[in-house]
Amino acid sequence: MLLPNAVHALLSILQRPPSFDFESACSLSSLSNTQFSNKVTLYHASIVPAGFTLQFPDTDDTCQPTPQLVSTDLCRITIQVETSNDSSINMEAWLPRNWTGRFLSLGNGGLAGCIQYNNLAYTTSLGFAAVGANNGHNGTSGAAFENHPEVLADFVYRSVHTNVVIGKEITEAFYGQRHKKSYYLGCSTGGRQGIKSVEDFPEDFDGVVAGAPAINWNNLIAWAGHLYSEITKDANSSSFIPTDYWSGLIHNDIISQCDGIDGVRDGIIEDPNRCHYDPSALLCAENSTNGTCLTVTQVETVRKVYSPFLGSDGRELFPAPQPGGEADPDFLLAISGYPSPFTSEWFKYAVYNNASYDPTTLTMEDYEYAIRLNPFDVATFEGDLDAFRQRGGKVLTYHGQADGLISPKISERYYERVQEISGSASGELDEYFRFFRIPGMEHCAGGPGAWQVGQSGVSVASLDADKNVLMAMVKWVEMGEAPETLEGVKYVGDDKEKGEAFRRRHCRYPLRSTYDGVGDASKLESWRCEMP
Ligand code: CA
Repeated sequence: MLLPNAVHALLSILQRPPSFDFESACSLSSLSNTQFSNKVTLYHASIVPAGFTLQFPDTDDTCQPTPQLVSTDLCRITIQVETSNDSSINMEAWLPRNWTGRFLSLGNGGLAGCIQYNNLAYTTSLGFAAVGANNGHNGTSGAAFENHPEVLADFVYRSVHTNVVIGKEITEAFYGQRHKKSYYLGCSTGGRQGIKSVEDFPEDFDGVVAGAPAINWNNLIAWAGHLYSEITKDANSSSFIPTDYWSGLIHNDIISQCDGIDGVRDGIIEDPNRCHYDPSALLCAENSTNGTCLTVTQVETVRKVYSPFLGSDGRELFPAPQPGGEADPDFLLAISGYPSPFTSEWFKYAVYNNASYDPTTLTMEDYEYAIRLNPFDVATFEGDLDAFRQRGGKVLTYHGQADGLISPKISERYYERVQEISGSASGELDEYFRFFRIPGMEHCAGGPGAWQVGQSGVSVASLDADKNVLMAMVKWVEMGEAPETLEGVKYVGDDKEKGEAFRRRHCRYPLRSTYDGVGDASKLESWRCEMP
C-alpha cells in the first residue's frame, strides 16, 4: 500500500530507534525471558515477508478467515494467555518491521471468537503494532459460555483488556521500547468492546474508534427476540410479511416517502429522524394484484416493527429501527420468522446455561430477567467517560443510518447519556467524544451511501485523515486536531476498480448533512453540516 506524503509524514512521527534487529527479535527464544502480567504460553513466532499471502488453517471453520496478503514485513506471534483458572484467550501480535511506535488492539463481532485477520493486515500496513484475540473462545457460536462464567467474562470485557495488557508487554519486549500511543478499532460487538474499554479501562487506549456499537446489549438482544416472539413468529399468520416484501415493496415505499426530504432523490435518507413513515399507502384496494400491497394486519405489522421496544412498564427498552435499512441482510434475518441466532444463543448459553432451552418460547418476562441479570455488566451503557477524558483520551463512534441490525438511534441515546452524565452543554463533548452519522450505510459497511471511511481493511478509499476514520483518530490524539467531518466514498457497484460514484462529507452529531438546494448533488461542495 502506497502512502501519500502527508499521511506518511503523520505516520512517521513516532519512529523507533534504528538499532533494532528485526530478524533476531522475531523468535520465541528472544521473548522467552519476558515478564508477563498473566501466565502466557508462547506458541509461535515467525517473519512474514511483504507480499506473502497468509492462510489460517488452524482457525475454527466457522470463522471463515479469508487469506490475507501482507503488504509489509512483520513478525507474527501467536500466544495463549490464561485469564482465570477456567478460561484463556488465544491472541496474535503482528509486529511490523516499519513500526511507527503506535500500538493497536482489534475487537470481535457478534458472539464470535474470531481474530480479525483482515484488520491485522490493514493496521500493520499502516505501521501499527497490532494485536487481536479470540474473545475467549473459538468459532462464531456462544456455546462455550454455557456454565463457564469465566469464558463469558472474557467475552464481556476481559479478552480485549488482556489482549491489550499482554500485547503492550510483547510489543515492548520485541522492539526494546514501549509504544508511544495506543489505539482501538472495532465495529458492532467490536464497537461495544471499544466503549467498554473507554468506560472501564480508561488507561488502555489513547484513541478508540467504535463503530455501530452493540451497546445496551441486553436490551438489543431482547429487541431482536421480541421482533420474532411478538411480531413475526407465525409465518402462516395473516400478519406475517415475507422478506422480499420488506426489501422490495416496503423499502421502496419508505424511500418514496422519505428520500426526498433532504432535497435529493438518491436512495439515501440523510437524516432518518425526519422520516415518519406511514405504511397505509400500501393498503390493498379491492382490485390490487397480489404482491403489490399489504393487508390491514400486515400494515399493523410494519407499524409494530417501526415502533420503539417497550418494557412491561411502558418505558423504552430499545429504540425503534430507523426506516431505510430494510435491504440490510441483517434486518431481513431479524424479521424472517425465525428467532434471531444471537438472541437464541445468548439465552441458551449466557442467561439460562441450558443448551436445550427452546428460544421460541421467549417472552417479555425472559427479556426483562436477562436485562436485570446483565452478566458482568455486558450492557455497556453507563456513559461515564470522565476518567478517560481526564487522561486525554479521545473516542470516535460512527453509525450507519441504514443499519438494520443495530438501530442507529442507540448511538444517539448513548451520546445524550454521556452528555447528561458529564453535565456538558451541547458541543462540549466534541473535546473528547465525537459521533458521526453515516447516511445510507448498513451494519458497519455496505449500502447506498458513501460508506468507505477506512473503518476496516475492506473499506479503505483513502489514508488521508479527513477520509479515514483510523487516521483521523491518530491525528486527533497526536496533533490535537479533531475531525470536523468524515469524508466517505461510494464506488460504482462497490467495486473500487469501477471508480467512484460519489463522495459525501459525513457530519458529527447532532449536525445534519444538508443539501444547498441548487448545486450538483453529486458534488461534495453542494452539501454542508448544519444544526437541525
Ligand atoms: Ca436523499
